[in-house]
Amino acid sequence: MKKLYMISALAAALAVALTIVFSARVADTRGYSLAREGDAQEGEESGAGDGGENGDAEPPQREGAGSDAATQVRVLEADGTVSKMALGEYLVGVVAGEMPAAFEPEALRAQAVAARTMALYRMEVEPNPRHPDADVCADPACCMAYDPLARAGWSAGGEYTPDMAKIIDAVRSTDGVWAAYGGEPILAVFHSSSAGRTENSGDVWGGELPYLVSVDSPETPGDNPGYTAAAAVTADEFRRVVTDEYADADAWGDDPGTWISDVAYTAAGRIAAVKAGGVTITGGRLRAMFGLKSTAADIEPTGDGFIFVTRGSGHGVGMSQYGANAMAASGAGYADILRAYYTGIEIKGA
Ligand SMILES: [Zn+2]
Repeated sequence: MKKLYMISALAAALAVALTIVFSARVADTRGYSLAREGDAQEGEESGAGDGGENGDAEPPQREGAGSDAATQVRVLEADGTVSKMALGEYLVGVVAGEMPAAFEPEALRAQAVAARTMALYRMEVEPNPRHPDADVCADPACCMAYDPLARAGWSAGGEYTPDMAKIIDAVRSTDGVWAAYGGEPILAVFHSSSAGRTENSGDVWGGELPYLVSVDSPETPGDNPGYTAAAAVTADEFRRVVTDEYADADAWGDDPGTWISDVAYTAAGRIAAVKAGGVTITGGRLRAMFGLKSTAADIEPTGDGFIFVTRGSGHGVGMSQYGANAMAASGAGYADILRAYYTGIEIKGA
């Protein structure tokens, strides 16, 4: 047993380390695979537009508690192998990879249900075309972060560190619970932190889903040490990056302070688009090009470049993880949290 415990402890320690890394880097297109901001073609039809219209086949019946053990999911691991495993095992790895274990238990449960729903969406509603032989992959930029050591630690059993026990409890105590819209699992995307309001999916990806619309999110700078961030870019660097991406960007005046203009905002207050070098750049592209944590940004000219001051982190669509944690700290249950972020859903299997 001692050996198993050490494996569990090691797994938990690694899970903590990974969650720190992930929370610092913060959920970007996490959980969303078809229209990643990093490489989505502008104007391309995104996957967000066609969920929930999967013909009129009867949705599979699930029994709620116990179904995590009975449901098999195919996971494309980081080393390229496809592993078939119980959904519960996979989810322990996802929760460990996606959310700091120090978060409130109800936030961890909301994360577990969102991750379960996302997996079911890929299994039953819209398979991920990036890897047809696997339902999900371990790449957080494509599907969801997944920590195989946490999963292995759970499978090995034995005693767990408090952090690992919290993660396991979040999965087990929500066994079989998922979020439905129109009777089907939803595209349960999430992100690290919002800036007051979440985004409309249509404003970020071009395809609007009725349950991914802008709502208030309660986290404050005090809830999230990385809430505000600043990224400085010199004028030369700015022009180089833009012209690398847009060959026809050639309108550069003598004063760099005039290079960014026509800043348009989404209804939720994030940058929808700017004009630079004579071309229009969407907020999502701008964010990807300059590694900004969020499109909730102020752009401040410095004379020889710009400082982007961002609020929150991630694409801003769906559940905010820090917002979920703030809600949980105020007494909300996981189902309340999910209903707050995914408009009009039903919680099934509880
Ligand atoms: Zn994937």
